[in-house]
Amino acid sequence: MTTLHHLGFPRVGAKRELKFAQERYWRKELSEQDLLDIAQKLREINWQNQAKENADYVTVADFTFYDHILDLQVATGAIPKRFGFDSQKLTLEQYFELARGNKDQFAIEMTKWFDTNYHYLVPEFHKNTEFKANPSHYVKQIKEAKALGFNTKPVIVGPLTFLWLGKEKGETFNRLQLLEKLLPIYTEILNAFIAEGVEWIQIDEPALALDLPKEWLEAYNYVYTELAKVNARLLLTTYFGSVAEHAPLLKSLPVDGLHLDLVRAPEQLSAFTDYEKVLSLGVIDGRNIWRANLNETLNLLEPLKATLGERLWIAPSCSLLHTPYDLSVETELQDKKPDLYNWLSFTLQKIKELHILKTALNQGRDAVAAELEQSQLAAQTRAESKDIHRIEVTARLAHLPENADKRKSPFAERIKEQNQWLNLPLLPTTTIGSFPQTPEIRYARASFKKGELSLEDYETAMKKEIEYVVRRQEELDLDVLVHGEAERNDMVEYFGELLDGFAFTKFGWVQSYGSRCVKPPVIYGDVARPTPMTVRWSQYAQSLTKKVMKGMLTGPVTILQWSFVRNDIPRSTVCKQIGVALSDEVLDLEKAGIKVIQIDEPAIREGLPLKRANWDSYLKWAGEAFRLSYMGVQDDTQIHTHMCYSEFNDILPAIAALDADVITIETSRSDMELLTAFSDFKYPNDIGPGVYDIHSPRVPTADEIEHLLRKALKVVPKERLWVNPDCGLKTRGWTETIEQLRTMIDVTKKLRKELA
Ligand code: GLN
Ligand code: ZN
Repeated sequence: MTTLHHLGFPRVGAKRELKFAQERYWRKELSEQDLLDIAQKLREINWQNQAKENADYVTVADFTFYDHILDLQVATGAIPKRFGFDSQKLTLEQYFELARGNKDQFAIEMTKWFDTNYHYLVPEFHKNTEFKANPSHYVKQIKEAKALGFNTKPVIVGPLTFLWLGKEKGETFNRLQLLEKLLPIYTEILNAFIAEGVEWIQIDEPALALDLPKEWLEAYNYVYTELAKVNARLLLTTYFGSVAEHAPLLKSLPVDGLHLDLVRAPEQLSAFTDYEKVLSLGVIDGRNIWRANLNETLNLLEPLKATLGERLWIAPSCSLLHTPYDLSVETELQDKKPDLYNWLSFTLQKIKELHILKTALNQGRDAVAAELEQSQLAAQTRAESKDIHRIEVTARLAHLPENADKRKSPFAERIKEQNQWLNLPLLPTTTIGSFPQTPEIRYARASFKKGELSLEDYETAMKKEIEYVVRRQEELDLDVLVHGEAERNDMVEYFGELLDGFAFTKFGWVQSYGSRCVKPPVIYGDVARPTPMTVRWSQYAQSLTKKVMKGMLTGPVTILQWSFVRNDIPRSTVCKQIGVALSDEVLDLEKAGIKVIQIDEPAIREGLPLKRANWDSYLKWAGEAFRLSYMGVQDDTQIHTHMCYSEFNDILPAIAALDADVITIETSRSDMELLTAFSDFKYPNDIGPGVYDIHSPRVPTADEIEHLLRKALKVVPKERLWVNPDCGLKTRGWTETIEQLRTMIDVTKKLRKELA
């Protein structure tokens, strides 16, 4: 019999119940007991769903109130000492303080979980970090599931991935040295699981899909020889990439089974077919929302079943945490786009797909003939759909003129033409695009969406906002103005709603961090731009002022990165299609007299593949897609781009290759460190390093800004330097925004005098 299991389940609930409960608890509108009860109910529903679809084991210990790596810090006693909490007696309130900070301590830093949009809390390791086991959070879940009669398989992130994801703080040392102290703690935790009578324990080591240094790889043998001494069977799980290059090592470990992600890296299978223990194959995509073609999956699995027999397990590729919960609540989508609806699969549908696969493997395809036919039919209609495959889009991309992604002249020539008409002072000032999104703006947008506000009234409201933003910028004496983005709910959704090939769900939420969820658009078909998207807003804004108005678009890589992307053509093709669609907008803006255009790419770095060997090919197509988005513009049109959220040091050549005339970039929080890299690399075009942090209402002092600008002037020629905040201002209030910008402009004017 083939075994079916899961690696992890969404924690927030089908309708984000956990999020709402947490937030009410934080506002003191819900008691701790009520929050615990709601969480318990959600876990029970998760287990019931898994059991109902015939999972042989339900996954436990994957539930968390905030983040599973924070839970692991608590379970191993590795919470930051600076909070002064006792990990053995941690209260729920203290747990949330670790995650969200308190009046004395800033929160534990957060960063992206591999290449997903989930964020984990980064462990802080010190040379003298002492560990202490506290498995109670996990054991409670195991007990609960057992009491409900479920066959449970607890999951925990393995010690090497845990250490790898952490940061070294204080005195320099190598955190790998902590392993010796950490391992007995893991053994203690595993034994606590075993005391509950579990047969299998799932240990996640996704770090194996990264480029691990040799000494880290070598540690695997030591770690798993030690952990395998416990009296349970260990399933070592890998995901998000291929581990084929570690096949000899992984096959030699004394664990009882191995899980491979065959969705992300199907090619790695051949390196493991001679594995002699349990081989769990991740065949249903845990990262995306597309329905599988089950016959095809069976074509792969059936021969493996013949050779592996009982040792074949099937599962999603990774935890289902990264997919929305339930497609069946998307009734609007089902009405409006029944075909698309039929091509999708969320968590509850995915576990059903696995159920069908399991039945087919154990009883033959005939036992699920009808289900397999439906799956086949969906795959077929998708492959042939005219709604997806549009010849004019593919033809356009296939027949782009040569050098379509190159500007007509090099930067040195372009900038002269641009400066001629722009006539900007030294150190020109600008902002990144958005201005405060006040409750009134949000209310107007929401009412319009609900049909309570007429198009006319909505437009009037937005125009009023634009005028307000323009007047404030004029008063402040900014040089290059923006319209403020009041009409945009979200920088990706706004464009997705106006482009062909995109669809939206109502409840397609996935956890981003803690109680925060995102609802990515679905890119299901060839992308085109039927009509202008931003032109009339920018044009209206320009009509109000003599100063230059900057047009504002979201770039193709960021749109791609923050969406669920179709899996039937390469991501690179989708990205270039978006680039080409955006170029229509850029040219229309140019025609309308908007000749400074910013194309935001905050997400360009987060698209980087996990392994360095794959960086170049990604950066090549991402760069091309970005450049296609300004295809055909005149030399005297000035293209800006903007980046934030990450460090860019290691991809500077790729950033330069974007050939934007001006790049604005988040730098203030790193005290302009980033700029040193830009100057070492000799970044050739104009650059606007952020001079203040927009994440806080705090108004920077003139001295602080002056310090940053002087630092910038040391590494950037004064003719190349722009002055702007770190990022958009939409999360700020008006009062602080005005004061912050005024300080920025006062300092700039002072420096200008000095430099003149
Ligand atoms: N133009 C966007 C804004 O100002 C950029 C946002 C971002 O970089 N994340 O809001
Ligand atoms: Zn930004």
